[in-house]
This record gives sequence, C-alpha cells and structure tokens, in this order.
Amino acid sequence: MNETHSVMNETNPLRRLPAVSRVLEEAALVEARQSYGLAAVTAAVRQVLAEMRQRLQAGQTLDTEELAPAHLAQQALLHLRRQCGPSLRPVINATGIVLHTNLGRAPLSEAAAQAAYEAARSYVNLELDLHGGQRSHRQEHVRQALCRLSGAEWATVVNNCAAATILVLRAVAGGGKEVLVSRGQLIEIGGSFRIPEIMAVSGATLREVGTTNITRLSDYERATGPQTAAAMRIHTSNYRLRGFTRTVALEDLVSWARRRQLAVIDDIGSGLAVDLSPWGLTGEPILSSSIRAGADLVVCSGDKLLGGPQAGLILGRKEWLERIERDPFFRAVRPDKMTLAALTATLQHYEDPALALNHVPVLRLLTTPAEQLQARCQSLLERLQSRSFPAAMQVLAQTAYAGGGSLPEIALPTYVLQIRPHQGSEEEWAYRLRMGEPPVIARRAQGCLWLDLRTVFPYQEDMLIQRLCQVAQSLAGPLDSP
Ligand SMILES: *Cc1c(COP(=O)(O)O)cnc(C)c1O
Repeated sequence: MNETHSVMNETNPLRRLPAVSRVLEEAALVEARQSYGLAAVTAAVRQVLAEMRQRLQAGQTLDTEELAPAHLAQQALLHLRRQCGPSLRPVINATGIVLHTNLGRAPLSEAAAQAAYEAARSYVNLELDLHGGQRSHRQEHVRQALCRLSGAEWATVVNNCAAATILVLRAVAGGGKEVLVSRGQLIEIGGSFRIPEIMAVSGATLREVGTTNITRLSDYERATGPQTAAAMRIHTSNYRLRGFTRTVALEDLVSWARRRQLAVIDDIGSGLAVDLSPWGLTGEPILSSSIRAGADLVVCSGDKLLGGPQAGLILGRKEWLERIERDPFFRAVRPDKMTLAALTATLQHYEDPALALNHVPVLRLLTTPAEQLQARCQSLLERLQSRSFPAAMQVLAQTAYAGGGSLPEIALPTYVLQIRPHQGSEEEWAYRLRMGEPPVIARRAQGCLWLDLRTVFPYQEDMLIQRLCQVAQSLAGPLDSP
C-alpha cells in the first residue's frame, strides 16, 4: 500500500490532501462548531487546505503527519481562534513594567476579579437598598470605603481620572472661570491627557502661573482676579523637575487659597494608598495626605498604584461632590456594576495595609525582592537548559520602572533572563512569542530577548516555558523532553 501511495504522490501530490468533509469529522472541529458555527469552521478548513495545496504545488515536501486530518484540524482551530476568537486576551507580561498601559495597567486581585465575574453573570443590587427595598445610589457601594481610605468627607467614582478631572473643573470653574496652574505642572499623560486640553473641554479657563521651573505663592497671588475660582495642583506623574526648581507645597497653597476663598483641586494621578517608602518607592503622593493637607477635591486613577479596575476617584468636600453628581455629564461617565464590584473588593484589601500589600498584585509585584526574582530566573534557566533549549542564556541584574506614569525616577532593581537564540533573530522570536497562546510580551535588545519575571506571575511560569519551547521547536526542530 505504501508503494502505491508514493507512486501516486509522485504523479499528483495534491491527491494526498484529505477532503474538506474528512477534516470536518475531526472531534476538535465537531466541538468547534458549537462555538464558531459550521460555516466559519468549514471556511477555516478550506483556508488551511488551500495553504497546503499552494505549498505542494510549489514543490515543497510535506510529511504525512502534516497532511493528517488531525493536524489540519488543529491548524484550522488556530485560524478560527485568530479570526473569530476574542481579540482581547490574557497575555504574559515579561517586560517587567508593572503598570503597562498597553497591557491594561493593573491586574486585579483574585478577590476583585472574582467579584467582577460574579457581578457580570448575575443581577446585582446595583441601585437597590436591600434593607428598605427602595431605589438607592450605585455610589453607596464604595463611598464609605473610599472615605475610610482617604479620610475624605465624601467620595464618588467615575469611568477614569480624565473624566474625574473634567467633572471637577466643570463644577468648580465651568463657564469660563479661571483656574490657576503652575507652568511646571502643565503635563501630558500618555498622549491623550493634556492639562490645557482637559481644561478647555471642561469650560474652565486655564491661567498659567509662574515659570516652568519656579513657581512661588506670589505668582498665584499676582494671577488672582475676580474671575479666579480655584488653584489646581497636578502631580507631574511621568516626569520630574530637577535642579533649580521651586513649587508651592499643597499645605501652603491651601492656606493661601482659603484666605482668597478659592477652591484647591489636587490631581494626584496614581492613587497610592499605602506608604511604599520602606521599599524605596518614594515620590508619589499618598491619597490621605492630600486630604489631610486640606485639598477641597482630590482626583486619581483606580488602575494605577491603587491596583484596582479602571476608574476615576473623586474625593473631598461633600458640597462639591453633590454638585458634581448633579452634573448631566456625571451620568455619562458613571461606572458599571463590574467596575464597582472589583473596586469594592480592592478597597476591602486596604482596610489593613498589610493585607493590601499581600493581595493587591500591583503592590506585590512592586515590592517583590530582587533576590527572589534572581532565584526564579535561575530556576527558569535551569529548566530550559534541561530541555537543551537552543540558546545562550544568563541571569542578569537590571533595573526596571513601574510604568503607567508612576514612580518615574525609581529604578527598581530586578533580574532578567537574557536569551540569545541560536536560531532566528530576536525579532522573529518576539513575533512568535506574541502570536502564540497565550501571547508572551518580552523586551528585546542587542540580539537578545530579555524576560523580566517581576511581572510574570508564578502560576504563569510553566506556560512561559512551554511557549518558549514551542517557538524553539518551530524554528529549530524537536527539543529534549525534560
Ligand atoms: C494617569 C493620570 C491621569 C489620567 O488618568 P486616567 O485614569 O488614565 O484617565 C490624570 N492625571 C494624572 C496626574 C495622572 O497621572
């Protein structure tokens, strides 16, 4: 039988391709019909067969395994996942950047993720007071916890910090009233958040004060006029002024503004709620200290150093917050049930800072000791070596940054596994690592891949090894089994 086959193959190699209907019978594809439908599955099989046909026609030799219906079915599944599956997928972040905006900033704690999941799949008492049976307010689920966390009188949550900033400016200075901002704080965050543009959208008038490097209280004083409504401090999240510089401390700005009957707005950005200075992570304002310093309204993100879901928190005086909640624009940027569920669970961790450090992934990743990362890199290296992984590898001490416009000056000591593949460029490797399941995002430089385990969860390590071996096999053939 083998004889006849090979003779036939030589005469017409295309006859080695199985029929579409034969591949469709494969169990994996019968199951796939449940999620993708027959039409899409058939199209994917035709596509895979067409590719194989092209390769055969081009004179490529394909072994029997590659043309087996089971293998073709697996290829079709990959096509289906790529074309019809969700485009938003969990990835392994091996960049070491804890708050990576392109990778969705903060990963949630188990409890927060679970809470979002439960809220998503069920009805919830979003705006229902279970005790009295009447309608209630969705903000009630988080208000008290936010007030406890920050010491603020009142608090509310919107879609993100950009929305929070616009709302605050509309309430305090909408309709063209002036807001004083130091020139050194007219920042841009991540391309689409620029203070002058946010100010313009809110309807407030920006009044620049002082110079880029020096702003004194007397500059605020000189700029104050009958139209002035507020002074705003903006945390220069992603950059720092150094050298001959001077800014006005929030406390001093507050006591001056009180005398002038102006409001003080503080945009602190990252929303850090526990003191990370024991880990050398300094330079970010802590939520409660802004409130203690007397700011009337404080805004921050929920998904930076707070480590929760995407959200914008507004904390401060009740009368201002009630005004904000009456703004029709507030309704347009209100948070959904999943966000509120995840935020509630995140805030629960903060009832005890020790629990927060233990449960909130962002805090845990930032405070992982470098020696621990060194040991994990070493073990990863040994596991890869035991499979004769085709690359030169070494564990190197490096520095990393928090990212997401937080802690810009803090170089975190870290360790990376540096991989110099024997075959294929580092671009090719990075591409193949991104394209598999789950995608792996690595840094690359100097002909090498750099894997920083600070942002790889221990439960992802086996998967990371599998993906690395997969790519090695696709480029260099089978590896040793471990
Ligand atoms: C990040 C940041 C913002 C924007 O926050 P989003 O939640 O991304 O809208 C605004 N202000 C400061 C100071 C920030 O650091």
